[in-house]
Amino acid sequence: MCLEMYETERKELVDILIGKGISNQDLINVLLKIERHLFVPDIMKQHAYKDVALPIGMGQTISQPYTVAFMTQELDPRPGQKILEIGTGSGYQAAILSGMGARVFTIERHTDLYNSAMKIFDRMNLKIAARCSDGTIGWEEFSPFDGIIVTAGGPTVPVNLKKQLAVGGKLVIPIGDKKLQTLQVITKKSDTDFFTREVPYFTFVPLIGKEGWKEK
Ligand code: SAM
Repeated sequence: MCLEMYETERKELVDILIGKGISNQDLINVLLKIERHLFVPDIMKQHAYKDVALPIGMGQTISQPYTVAFMTQELDPRPGQKILEIGTGSGYQAAILSGMGARVFTIERHTDLYNSAMKIFDRMNLKIAARCSDGTIGWEEFSPFDGIIVTAGGPTVPVNLKKQLAVGGKLVIPIGDKKLQTLQVITKKSDTDFFTREVPYFTFVPLIGKEGWKEK
């Protein structure tokens, strides 16, 4: 009975996202399938299918569903592509990318969030490579990536992430101050030529690390 209730709520949420401009059918199918309530703390489950960001502990959030869907649509991951996510958080965004058939690599700096996301990936039988470290330096060993998605807002685009992006690949990253960012959608045309499109405005938790904000 509980499951049915969530299915209805999930469908209603996806209808809202479609109304806001989400049109990638593969993404829509995955949004209908992945259970967001599994990625939020028990106390938040009743709000899991509202189009809002929710606290997940350590002062961090699971992003608003529209933001997850919008960034994924901009990234446009294809089955088999290697995608790097910086900011695993709850693991929901990584699960969406994996559901779309991408080979997902994800990095989280908080040990507790990393551990909790790993448990969820295991329980859902998702083959996602995860590590606990500073994602602003990327994951060189598995580079180049066909796409990189950063789910925390930084002051500048990390040079390492640009280097680790494959030619033809896309990097989606919020850049700005700590309160407001524009989403930069960066296409790597060659090793030295990048095309950037900016989409205003978003608010993310800060990207903290060597090529991000300094920790207080
Ligand atoms: N993608 C997440 C989800 O689906 O729940 C959203 C997580 S939250 C908006 C952003 C995450 O980025 C936080 O968990 C935060 O700890 C993490 N973060 C911030 N700076 C980071 C860094 N340099 N490396 C890795 N993770 C970082």
